[in-house]
Amino acid sequence: MHELSLARDIIDTVQQNVPKEEICRIKYVVVKVGAFSGVVTDSLKFSFQAITSDTELYGAELEIIDIPFLLKCNTCGKTTTNEFGMMICSGCGSVDTEMISGNELQVVEVKVETMEEI
Ligand SMILES: [Zn+2]
Repeated sequence: MHELSLARDIIDTVQQNVPKEEICRIKYVVVKVGAFSGVVTDSLKFSFQAITSDTELYGAELEIIDIPFLLKCNTCGKTTTNEFGMMICSGCGSVDTEMISGNELQVVEVKVETMEEI
């Protein structure tokens, strides 16, 4: 299962970047997931929950920001989108394009419960 190992990577990232005393107070882990990354978000959330249930991250939720697939055309300069994997400008039909977003899978933020809220 692809999502299971991704969930594990996300948890590793969190554990490496968040001070130990704050990990148990994490409420949300915010992750950017590109439309082109091939990640099934429901499955990723499920895997995250399953893995964290017996760790200090128990109770934390995965919040997913969907990033659209976008292309920048080097011929006409437009930013367009297209069907997944179609690296063709929908403005002029040029194949001289670059993917500018859609491939992301990164932890962008961790929301920690503050003492006042408890
Ligand atoms: Zn174009």
